[in-house]
Amino acid sequence: MEHRAGADEDERSWQRLANCLGVDPDLFFPERGVSTREAKEVCRGCVVRAECLDYALANGEKFGIWGGLSERERRTVRRARAARASRGGAASA
Ligand code: SF4
Repeated sequence: MEHRAGADEDERSWQRLANCLGVDPDLFFPERGVSTREAKEVCRGCVVRAECLDYALANGEKFGIWGGLSERERRTVRRARAARASRGGAASA
């Protein structure tokens, strides 16, 4: 399991550079109907936004703001990527 632990650590190493370090996590997991604007503002200036979004998509994160996107927005991205892959766009990956 050593290999797996190393992979997990690698997979999440981007979190050390996260703009949201030290920010109230509740901001990123708001109650239904509460604005996500403040969380998205934090994400806007984040240098690991792409990594964060990819992680959330790869791990099927269903709740909260990841990579500056809400659950609904991530679903849209996931569908678009799946459609692109089915057209052969991900053949080189
Ligand atoms: S994109 Fe947003 S949620 Fe993801 S690490 Fe950066 S600040 Fe945090």
